[in-house]
Amino acid sequence: MRCGNECSPELSLLAEPLRRRRENRELSAEEWALLRCSRCRGWLRPHVLWFDEFYDEEHFRFESSIRAAAETDLLVIVGTSGSTTLPNHVASIVHERGGTILDINIEENAFTPLARSSQNGAVIRQPAARALPELLRCSG
Ligand SMILES: [Zn+2]
Repeated sequence: MRCGNECSPELSLLAEPLRRRRENRELSAEEWALLRCSRCRGWLRPHVLWFDEFYDEEHFRFESSIRAAAETDLLVIVGTSGSTTLPNHVASIVHERGGTILDINIEENAFTPLARSSQNGAVIRQPAARALPELLRCSG
């Protein structure tokens, strides 16, 4: 979560009582209060990119990601559909440089063709919880 008023760049987890919440009922006054910024009392918001927003360096490390992609030899993409621009841009840069792309996902996605056509690339059709530990075991 982050402050919707942008009073600070700090990120925080959703308050524990809200994370543990399972009942489908309206929020209590105390629960609503947990959705307020502790500094300015503005509303907190999820730290995600909404449709009317754009990637920037401050929140999403846009330029840093592009620079890192230009030096990446191996890109492991885990469990994402590839429906936003920055991850696709990063994958394209690694692919164009001749890097290896590994696509770990239970289904076909925007990165699958890049992984299949990248040098030494691979597609693993397994849940991340199974594929990643196995990958670590094999790399050690
Ligand atoms: Zn704030």
